[in-house]
Amino acid sequence: MSFPYLRPRRLRKKLYLRDLVAETRISPRDFIYPIFVREGIEEPEEISAMPGQHRWPVNEKLVEHVQKALDLGVHSVLLFGVPESKDELGSPAYDENGVVQRAVRLLRRELGDEVVIFTDVCLCHYTTHGHCGLLGKRCVGGFCEYIVENDTTLELLGKVAVSHAKAGADVVAPSSMMDGMVKAIREALDKEGFTDVAIMSYAAKYASAFYGPFRAAAENAPQHGDRRTYQMDPRNGEEAVKEVALDVQEGADILMVKPALAYLDVIRRVREAFPHYPLAAYNVSGEYSMLKVAAREGLVDEKKIVLEVLHAIKRAGANIIITYHALEAAEWLREGLDQKLF
Ligand SMILES: [Zn+2]
Repeated sequence: MSFPYLRPRRLRKKLYLRDLVAETRISPRDFIYPIFVREGIEEPEEISAMPGQHRWPVNEKLVEHVQKALDLGVHSVLLFGVPESKDELGSPAYDENGVVQRAVRLLRRELGDEVVIFTDVCLCHYTTHGHCGLLGKRCVGGFCEYIVENDTTLELLGKVAVSHAKAGADVVAPSSMMDGMVKAIREALDKEGFTDVAIMSYAAKYASAFYGPFRAAAENAPQHGDRRTYQMDPRNGEEAVKEVALDVQEGADILMVKPALAYLDVIRRVREAFPHYPLAAYNVSGEYSMLKVAAREGLVDEKKIVLEVLHAIKRAGANIIITYHALEAAEWLREGLDQKLF
């Protein structure tokens, strides 16, 4: 049977009929809201590269902001630290009074179990050179180059994760793309008795130009070189399945693909290869700012395009979306715009 008997348009003729047969639904409960916490400030600071986003002080302003997220139904936050001091070894990253550790304790104390606290576990915000691992020098045949050392970095990542767990984090999220990072962190957490702290691994993280605005926000751009020796090559898709498989073997509880929008095919592949794992996708700073700036210029309908993108990420196979749009999108969903705009 085909045309004129089969007419897919029949199901598109009315708003509420379209809604009834819509395959994908998103909710504020799908979102993790990323937040930058900065040491040494008292007031929130606007991030010019990310219109509408701020760096937050570790005080009642941060608590109020997270409370606003809770009121909108967004109960998960992912914290990134912007410390005052950095060193070669990234030691402020595992200082028990570091900016993230203090923020975790504050939110836990003030908001209790209402908030699920994820923390980014990496060194790049805390090292003077801005790389995600320890920097070493390798000289072969008189030719010397800087390399980001894998195995010595692992021990430090374990220390960072334990310090976050001690402060009260629910889930640690290692983002450095060092080989073996999930296993090293799992062992470090378990050794300290944090067997119930989960790991959300940045399992397939690409060396992407979409991170540009984040680097301005977190001040973590590498001082020399780039991250192509540890993050994935945007030309690869099959390799993502291998990367994710390793993290699964090492004990990751939640998997992640980053970025999201240019990697929807990767999200789909990972979803199909690992159907039994929660899968997060990180709708990154460049994806966010691209829409914000285009909307500001009047080129696109912001609400519609943001909801379109968030639905696309979920449709691709992610069940968790890490997004800077979280609070605005939650408001729009509360107004029923996901129903009315499509
Ligand atoms: Zn990093």
